[in-house]
Amino acid sequence: MNSKISAIASANRLVIKVGSSLVTNEGRGIDRTVFDNWAHQIAFLHNQNKQIILISSGAIAEGIVRLGWSTRPKTMHELQAAASVGQMGLCEAYEAAFSKYNLRTAQILLTHEDLTNKFRYLNARNTLFSLLRLGVIPIINENDTVVTDEIRLGDNDTLGALVTNLIEANAFIILTDQQGLYDSDPRKNPSAKLILHAKANDPALEVMAGSSGTNIGTGGMLTKILAARQAISGGAITIIASGREDRILIRLSQGELIGTELRSAGELVFVEHKKWLIDHFQLQG
Ligand code: GLU
Repeated sequence: MNSKISAIASANRLVIKVGSSLVTNEGRGIDRTVFDNWAHQIAFLHNQNKQIILISSGAIAEGIVRLGWSTRPKTMHELQAAASVGQMGLCEAYEAAFSKYNLRTAQILLTHEDLTNKFRYLNARNTLFSLLRLGVIPIINENDTVVTDEIRLGDNDTLGALVTNLIEANAFIILTDQQGLYDSDPRKNPSAKLILHAKANDPALEVMAGSSGTNIGTGGMLTKILAARQAISGGAITIIASGREDRILIRLSQGELIGTELRSAGELVFVEHKKWLIDHFQLQG
């Protein structure tokens, strides 16, 4: 394997996850320039006959801005209220950004139940495949407004991995506000090194991931590693990279290695029913 070339180049169905901090300019509110930029890059990939599904966080962060709250609320019903307000903003901003490139978007809000109940799982899968066939870009978030603490997935890294397996994507790209996974915390250790390639099951990854992350979204680096493992167990290569990197998606699709690329060390699960079982049992703990 050439350590300088990303395997993303050959992927034809990709799930791209963008975190709250990127979506809302670190909690200041929807960043339309960034949305336009992603729409431009995704349109480029779409024109290369790649199918794209976007997982977008940011509903709660945007809702907090729109409601004029200065801090993140603690109670579930306030978080849910913020999510429902913010989700309107995400929906409108994505539709506006993608329409400049003549692309239609579809909003899909999923719950844990939609992914654990076999009937609902297949239903969501069929809808997503229909949208992809129609050339629409599905934009997915957790349905924060209706889920309670006990049953919510809670972070979109996990949701992204489950969707990757649901639609048998061959790549899962997690865009975040960090360059990727470092061998130690780069904020504390200036000589920390970015990991370019790793086997997903390497136990050292957990230690490296530590608890780094921002307080805008929910998933830290550890969550991303666990989500990557889940996606990789279903056969997808996973990249963790900075969403602020210039033309990141286009460059990845051209084979450039950016951020951290995680791959499987062993047998991959390709059969759809087996994928459901794996995710189902992981979700049930
Ligand atoms: N679903 C949450 C939102 O849209 C984000 C969860 C996460 O940060 O991963 O605000």
